[in-house]
Amino acid sequence: VARLSRASELPSRSFRSMGTVVSITLGADYAECMESVTEHIREIFDRLESEMSVYRADSEISRLSRMAGVAPVVVSKDTYKVLELAQYFGTLSAGAFDSTAGPLMRLWGFNGSSLPPVRPSQEAIHEVLKMVDGRRLVLRDGTAFLPVKGMTEDLGGIAKGYAVDRAYDYCLSVGIRSFLIDFSGNMRAAGRPASGETWQIGVRNPFDRARLIGKLILPSGGALATSGGYERFVDIGGVRFSHIIDPRTGCPVKGTASVTVLCADAATADALSTSCYVLGPSGARECLKKVASAELLIVPDQVSMEFFLTRGFNKLFAPAPELRNSVKLLSPN
Ligand code: AMP
Ligand code: MG
Repeated sequence: VARLSRASELPSRSFRSMGTVVSITLGADYAECMESVTEHIREIFDRLESEMSVYRADSEISRLSRMAGVAPVVVSKDTYKVLELAQYFGTLSAGAFDSTAGPLMRLWGFNGSSLPPVRPSQEAIHEVLKMVDGRRLVLRDGTAFLPVKGMTEDLGGIAKGYAVDRAYDYCLSVGIRSFLIDFSGNMRAAGRPASGETWQIGVRNPFDRARLIGKLILPSGGALATSGGYERFVDIGGVRFSHIIDPRTGCPVKGTASVTVLCADAATADALSTSCYVLGPSGARECLKKVASAELLIVPDQVSMEFFLTRGFNKLFAPAPELRNSVKLLSPN
């Protein structure tokens, strides 16, 4: 997902957090707030990162993983909330979303582990799968516990969306009514960039990042998230593997190139885009029936370029002219 030039004359700032880029754009009326808003959001994101990062040995999430099979750990309100949401979306997606997929991530060479020289064997995958089951995470009275030694948490599929919602709440709380927050493809907008205009978001072509497959209008209050195999991947023996793992098979997902979800809040959009990436078009359609207001665009990973979108997404979306014939409606039944 990329922002379009329309907003380029508006005050905006970028900074890095959680290993990626955050961009904040404000309506023209709010130019003088730009510095203080940026600083506050940076503080919020840095705090959430220090609590939830798998890359920091001193984060709550790293402690939770280290204490697996040993004892519950006390976590912050935000971490608790994100763990609850992760478990909720695990159930909603029938296990496609699983924030305990960490051991699988490591098996396939992600999350700072070394790249396996060859594709992991079926036996190795089978062994690691015993430590993956988000339903077993115990959340009680502000504490979290993974019951089996070797289990780990990885909130990478939902934490950025949650962070965007916190930034969104902050902006509204200080009276800013027109803004767009973009945290590496997790977005939320309020108001309009200028009177009579809309926030327009470009959806990247997963096969050619420099190009767009179309443009979407992001309504006020709405959230958008994209999961793409092209964002992060490993190369094992000349084969590319995406950073999104199917917890049911233990293998990186094949068959999906990208998923974009539009809905009412950014944490839900983030969790659903990861879930639907795993589920593919037909599974995604089933999953979305359970979430009022969620709309989706999914691009299968296949030679002939075609993409599926729900009716509600289609209403706000204009495909690139050369791709008009590639659009297929994903009907709700
Ligand atoms: P996203 O870019 O939001 O789709 O999230 C991808 C990230 O979520 C990965 O880099 C992992 O940290 C984590 N992850 C990978 N597979 C899954 C999964 N099946 N369910 C939940 N999180 C996952
Ligand atoms: Mg996600």
